[in-house]
Amino acid sequence: MPEPIKRVDTKQLQSKLIGAKESFTQAAIDAFSPNVCILNNAGDILLVNQAWRNFYDANSCAPNVSDYFIGTNYFQICKQSKMTGNNEAELVLKGALQVVHGELDEFSTQYPCHSPTKKCWFNIRVTRFQNDSGYLMLSHEDITEFKLTEEKHNLSAKVFSYSHEGIMITDSAGIIIDVNDAFTNITGYSREESVGQNPRFLKSDRQSNDFYTDMWNEITRNGYWVGEIWNRRKNGEVYPEIQNISSVNDADGKVQNYVSLFSDITSLKNYQSQLEKMAHYDPLTLLPNRVLLSDRLAQTLLQCQRHEKSVAIVFLDLDGFKAVNDAHGHAIGDRLLVTMSNRMKDTLREEDTLARIGGDEFVAVLADLDKIDDCEPLLERLLLAASAPVFVDNIRLNVTASLGVTTYPEDNVNADILLRHADQAMYIAKGMGKNRYHMFDIAKDIALKTNREDLEAVRIGLLQKQFVLFYQPIVDMKIGKVIGVEALLRWQHPERGLLPPTEIPALLEDNPVSIQLGEWVISSALTQIKQWQSIGLNLNVSVNIGARQLQQENFPTRLAEIISSHPDVEAGYLELEVMENGVFTDLDQVTSVIQDCLDMGIHFTLDDFGTGYSSLTYLRLLPATSIKIDQRFIGKMLTDPSARAIVEGVIGLAKAFKCKAIAEGVESIEQGTALLAIGCELAQGYAIARPMPSNDIPIWIKNWKPDAAWQENVSP
Ligand code: C2E
Ligand code: MG
Ligand code: MG
Repeated sequence: MPEPIKRVDTKQLQSKLIGAKESFTQAAIDAFSPNVCILNNAGDILLVNQAWRNFYDANSCAPNVSDYFIGTNYFQICKQSKMTGNNEAELVLKGALQVVHGELDEFSTQYPCHSPTKKCWFNIRVTRFQNDSGYLMLSHEDITEFKLTEEKHNLSAKVFSYSHEGIMITDSAGIIIDVNDAFTNITGYSREESVGQNPRFLKSDRQSNDFYTDMWNEITRNGYWVGEIWNRRKNGEVYPEIQNISSVNDADGKVQNYVSLFSDITSLKNYQSQLEKMAHYDPLTLLPNRVLLSDRLAQTLLQCQRHEKSVAIVFLDLDGFKAVNDAHGHAIGDRLLVTMSNRMKDTLREEDTLARIGGDEFVAVLADLDKIDDCEPLLERLLLAASAPVFVDNIRLNVTASLGVTTYPEDNVNADILLRHADQAMYIAKGMGKNRYHMFDIAKDIALKTNREDLEAVRIGLLQKQFVLFYQPIVDMKIGKVIGVEALLRWQHPERGLLPPTEIPALLEDNPVSIQLGEWVISSALTQIKQWQSIGLNLNVSVNIGARQLQQENFPTRLAEIISSHPDVEAGYLELEVMENGVFTDLDQVTSVIQDCLDMGIHFTLDDFGTGYSSLTYLRLLPATSIKIDQRFIGKMLTDPSARAIVEGVIGLAKAFKCKAIAEGVESIEQGTALLAIGCELAQGYAIARPMPSNDIPIWIKNWKPDAAWQENVSP
């Protein structure tokens, strides 16, 4: 049996307690955590608790300010506060008086107040003592923290409700626990229809599963994801939105919620696509414009490259369009263009593109051709479509089209150049009578381009000092003396090695680079003359001059300038060889140039003599000092009597015109012997020496001896 609960005699204890009333009351109110004071019905403050003291001491400037309250009248303080504009003070006063008059047992209100250090909130409560003793208990509970949190919550709630962005909150399992009004406005689903669902119910089929996997991976990794997503509204409409999903974690970092904010960007997308249209399409014909054309062309080229197909690029210009504009005005002209565009577009296949790139200029890109010829029927159809009459307001309009065509990869250049080539071909089609197509001449273009590239290489070669002169001795076989050397150009090509003149394209050309190269040869030969002279070797050097360079208007002036830039070289050591079969367009001018050079002390040789059809005329008219018998006759003179006859004839001519005859291409001792026998002593050729670098010349000259046979056969 449990022991019965004991009871004490309370009578005496209670009377003790009542005797200790004052200290008891103080202790009791000190136990309250809010700031508490006791007032009488007149509003006089009789007692304040410890919390009251602590609060007002801490938040006032003056020390022991709390004691100041005791004995003051609370109602009066309220009245004064009201006078200084604190409306809540009036409310408190009114409530307190209602309690005093027994109309209310208790009054409470929330009361903002500004202490000198911070803004605070109090919950003010006025309570009447139950025993109706004529006392009131007033408590000021500091609820600032609570108020601030509440304010924050209110703000969040406002943001949530009034946001124009849709907001969706899910739990950690991704189940929707709340959505805002904007969510409903955007998706069409109410809060009730959405809460409890997985957001998947909004999904459109525009994104792959991989898209969602990547999205969730990113949210797991970074805690958020931002991107564009297509969802489906309740009415079935698919729309784009910008979505921002963030995970909300608890203190341990565990996901509690996911918050998704999204905006409907349909109008933005529409605007964007409108802008795109404006940027990519011709507003009149609605055909792609130049910008989109280059995009499409680039894609088509890539695609056809991959599928090993050809693409035809067609530049199309209407013939007679200006006349329509002039005669009927631009409005009619515009309508003609629209009809024409539609018609031409109809002749093309799905994979082709027709773009308008200017007034009456169009470009068609014909894709996926197995062979070049496959584009011909399409071109014919385009021509036909363009040439059929167009009726605008009962006016019959007639235009045609001129087409220029090039094909890729046959014309293996970039998109811009393809268009340029098609444009060039279109001009030819116009020139050939319009209303036709003309194919761009790819082979001719390659030849031209190669030529341009070659010339550029020569120009760079000159800058990088890749050219050198080799020298081949010219000797007098009879007396065994070296009478000079011929400078022969070589190209020390960085990739192809040492190249002979036949491999130097600039030599055949009539352009600034060939002139530059020719002048470099003369200048280098002069430098070489000086260098040999400095070691006691006085040698005549003959250089080859192209016929074109010689006929250059200011050749004598340029030559004089080059010579004067080598002031320590006597011009008389320089000789110029000009090919007899060179094309001299104006013999009088050439004669005068040669005469000018002779006046400077420079001699002339007619090179490769006997090969041109005007040999005799030249010999008669041009004041040359020497002639070189062409190596082709020398090579055959021992076996071919007619060749020998020519050699003899040339030697005779030389004598008649008082010129020296030099045999070139002497490859054997026998040839030399034969030449000596018919009175030609001067010679050059492999039998004597091959062309060599300038450094080898002094040693060669020192060591050279004419063949003994030549000495024997010479009549004294
Ligand atoms: P070219 O002026 O008639 O020069 C003689 C050519 O015959 C040189 O060829 C020379 O190497 C070659 N040769 C010399 N002896 C023999 C031989 O016994 N047998 C054979 N088969 N060939 C021999 P290269 O150096 O190839 O020059 C060819 C041509 O290029 C020259 O013919 C000349 O017309 C031109 N050329 C050379 N240098 C220059 C130059 O600086 N300017 C210009 N415009 N033309 C040049
Ligand atoms: Mg020569
Ligand atoms: Mg020659």
